[in-house]
Amino acid sequence: MKLQGFYGRDKTNIKSSSLRALVKLTLFPSDFSSYNVYMLTHDMIRRCPKVELHDHLDGGLRPQTIIELAEKYGISLPEKNPEELRKWFSRGCRQKSLSLYLETFSITTAVMQTKEALTRVAKEAMEDLAAENVVYAEIRFAPALHLQKGLNLEEVVTAVLKGLDIGGRENGVQFGLILCAMRHEKPESTLEIAELAVAFREKGVVGFDIAGDEYGHPPKKHIQAFQYIRSKNFNITIHAGEAFGVESIWQAIQICGAHRIGHGVRLVEDMVCEGMAIKKMGSLSHFIQDRRIPMEFCLSSNVGTGAVESLEDHPFPLFFKNSFRVFLCSDNRLMSDTTLTKEFEIAVREYGLDFKDIEKITINAMKSAFIHHDRKIKLIYDVIKKGYADLRREYGLD
Ligand SMILES: [Zn+2]
Repeated sequence: MKLQGFYGRDKTNIKSSSLRALVKLTLFPSDFSSYNVYMLTHDMIRRCPKVELHDHLDGGLRPQTIIELAEKYGISLPEKNPEELRKWFSRGCRQKSLSLYLETFSITTAVMQTKEALTRVAKEAMEDLAAENVVYAEIRFAPALHLQKGLNLEEVVTAVLKGLDIGGRENGVQFGLILCAMRHEKPESTLEIAELAVAFREKGVVGFDIAGDEYGHPPKKHIQAFQYIRSKNFNITIHAGEAFGVESIWQAIQICGAHRIGHGVRLVEDMVCEGMAIKKMGSLSHFIQDRRIPMEFCLSSNVGTGAVESLEDHPFPLFFKNSFRVFLCSDNRLMSDTTLTKEFEIAVREYGLDFKDIEKITINAMKSAFIHHDRKIKLIYDVIKKGYADLRREYGLD
């Protein structure tokens, strides 16, 4: 059976039955090995070395930590029991309600208004990532959301870096910090965050991002900040093509100079597909593929916020199998009730990924990191490739 999929610029096309059908086809391709399904257990996927490049600090707190910090700072919570609180945080994702999803961030940011709290949350993030065998992580957050109790921007960033450093050193996880500005803020505030990011480049900050609601807030409004970052030879990733279409991705790359794209799921609207084969690409898709522009895909988050209707609608396997530089990230572990291990488990289950694919995705991510080339090469050869080779031997996969 031949399936035709056409992705025009109409938002509804990503939800088309053609895409659903073509992705379904890949769930059980003819060469799909039940051996892989059998072998790739949760524990094995957890033990695979991983690289996390899209993880929001205020989206990954432990429920118990939120409870303790809220009690200390007199903040009321909707639930007192950690498990109930965890469920409360992920209800937006379960109900596919973006407003419920976003509402929860007011609680996590409320408990992160002191140096101690910021350091603790950052340190615990490193511990939690280490438990998933993440070997390198880029954590991001918006410093301007943590000034409610009188800290200044420098103090906020310093406190987070301290926690990442302690947690990273104690658990053997290397890290970089990305500072986010918010799309709805004034361009002057965005420039201030861009300057802050560059000022901390020797202390662990590796890049700059702009997050928040895409609709009505085009990144080009903040062009001065992006020009500043580029003039300083620094790194840019932009949340784009999640809620808004191809135009948003084009603007992020060609106007703002993004080196990576956060999500970018709607690039699929710039293609004509037949089954898993891309028959025709628009010039932006070609540019992204040719220049190896990395895209940070977050499966659970994209479904939970409604950017993609379901896992089987997600274009990740299409991009991956057609040699785009894509990889998996968890976005907001708490709100999406996920971990990087879970994201890979989903991809194994839904898209038939095998062990080799997990390694390739991890190397894709490591190549796309914002640290310097020599460190990346060292991590790829000494840690990632070695780790996969060891596991392959242990599990008899050679
Ligand atoms: Zn994000």
